[in-house]
Amino acid sequence: MTGTATAPSTTDPIAELHDWLADNWDPDLSVAKWWERLGLSGWAAPLLPVDCYGRGLNRSDALRVAQTITEFGALPAPMGMGIGLVSPTIATHGTREQIERYIPDAVTGRLGWCQLFSEPGAGSDLAGLATRAARDGDVWIVNGQKVWTSGGHLADLGMLLARTDPTVPKHQGITWFAFDMHQPGVEVRPLREMTGNTMFSEVFFTDAVVRDDARIGALNNGWTVANTTLFHERSGMGARSGAQVFLGPRAGTVAGDLERRAGDFVRTTRSTPRRSDDGHRPSPAATYITLAREFGRNADPVVRQRLAQAHILGEITRLNTERNKATRAVGGDIPGIANFSKLLMGHILRHNRDLGAAILGARSTLHGYDTDSRDSLNDAPGGREVQTITAQVLSAQALPIFGGTDQIQRNIIGERVLGLPKEPGDLSRVPYNELPKNG
Ligand SMILES: Cc1cc2nc3c(=O)[nH]c(=O)nc-3n(C[C@H](O)[C@H](O)[C@H](O)COP(=O)(O)OP(=O)(O)OC[C@H]3O[C@@H](n4cnc5c(N)ncnc54)[C@H](O)[C@@H]3O)c2cc1C
Repeated sequence: MTGTATAPSTTDPIAELHDWLADNWDPDLSVAKWWERLGLSGWAAPLLPVDCYGRGLNRSDALRVAQTITEFGALPAPMGMGIGLVSPTIATHGTREQIERYIPDAVTGRLGWCQLFSEPGAGSDLAGLATRAARDGDVWIVNGQKVWTSGGHLADLGMLLARTDPTVPKHQGITWFAFDMHQPGVEVRPLREMTGNTMFSEVFFTDAVVRDDARIGALNNGWTVANTTLFHERSGMGARSGAQVFLGPRAGTVAGDLERRAGDFVRTTRSTPRRSDDGHRPSPAATYITLAREFGRNADPVVRQRLAQAHILGEITRLNTERNKATRAVGGDIPGIANFSKLLMGHILRHNRDLGAAILGARSTLHGYDTDSRDSLNDAPGGREVQTITAQVLSAQALPIFGGTDQIQRNIIGERVLGLPKEPGDLSRVPYNELPKNG
C-alpha cells in the first residue's frame, strides 16, 4: 500500500472533514475498504505529520476529528496500538522506507500490533529487560520472554524492546524492533483475567528472527525510541474519555471479518452525545445520578457527596484539557501534563468504581462472564449501566498500572518536573551485565 495523505488546507479542519465525510462515507463499503479510505486520507490518525499519513493536528483538534466522525454517523477509525503508539513512534524515528512499510497498514487497521516491552523482571524498571537480540549477519536472533502483552494473541507485529549490548549501562544497550509475530520461534500463551476476558498473553521467543532493516532508530538507542512510544501511550490515556470504544488491537476484532459492511457497526460504536438537545453539556456524573435515582440512593448524603465529587473531577479534567489546549495554542507546554493526566484518570476510575459500588450495593458483585449472563443482567434494574459498573469494579485498577504505575508517574513528576533528588542507589552507570541480580 503506498500513497501519502492529502496536504491539509488552512481552513478549519472540522469543516474540511465534514466535506470529506460527505464525499467519502459509504455504509455499504466493507470495513477494510472504509478504513483504507479513511486511513490514507489522514483522518484516521490526524495527529501524525502530513507526510506520514496524518494531518499534523494538535491533540484537541484530533479529538474533535474523532468526535466528528462518530457524530456524522460514520464508522470510527481503527483504534489500538498500531495507530496510537507505533505510527507516531515510526514517524519520529523511522526511515522513509520504514514509514511507508509500516504506517499505512497501521492507520488502515490492516495489521494489528502489540507492545513487547514488559517482562517478568522488568515492568517499572523497564530498562532492566533481559530479552536478548544477538546479531547474525543481516538478522537478529531473539531469545527471552515478555508478559502482560495486550492483544499478543491477535497481533501481527510487535514493538519489541531487546537487549543488544549487555556490556553497557542498562538504558544504553536496548534496541526497538518491528517484530513479526507470525514465525516459528514465537509462542504466545494467552492469560485469563478476573474480568473473564483474555486480553493479555505471555510471549516466549526461542531463536526468533528479526531483520536489521526492521530496527527502528539507531542500534542501542531503543530507550529513546521507547520513550516516544510511552509518551504517546500516556498522553493518549490521559486525554481519552472512558466512553470511547476500543476497537481492538487487530482491526478484524471489530468486525470479526473485515469484509463485512461498515455501516453494520456504526450503531454499536456511536458514543453518547456531548450536549443534550437544550444545548447543555451533561454532567460527567450523569450516569451515576440516574443510577442513584433508579436504586433509591439519591437521598443518601454520602452518595450525594461522592456524586458531587464525580462531577468536580470531570470538570477538573475538562478545565485541564482546556488549559493544555490554550498553552499549546501559544506554542507552550505544561511540563509533566501527560503524567498528571494519567494520574488523574486513574483517580477518577477508582472514584467512580467506588461510587458505582456504593449505589449498587451487593449487586456490584454480580458479573456476566458470558454473553448469556450479560443479557440477563441487562434485563435487571439498571441494565447495561449495572453491567458497565460491575465490569469497572474488576478492571478499574488496570489503568493505574499500565503505561507506568501511579508511583512511577509520581517519581517522574518529582524528579523531572519538580527537580527533586533522584532515588538513592542509582545504578544507571553500571554495565547491565554487572548489575546485582536476584537468585
Ligand atoms: C491492563 C494492563 C495492560 C498492559 N499491557 C501491556 C502491554 O501491552 N505491553 C507491555 O509491555 N506491558 C503491558 N503491561 C504491563 C505494565 O506496563 C506493567 O505492569 C507496569 O509497568 C508495572 O510493572 P510490574 O507489573 O512489573 O510491577 P512492578 O514494577 O514489579 O511494580 C510493583 C509495585 O512496586 C511499585 N514500584 C516499582 N518500582 C518503584 C519505584 N522505583 N518507586 C516507587 N514504587 C515503585 C509499583 O508502582 C507497583 O506498585 C500492562 C499492564 C496492565 C495492568
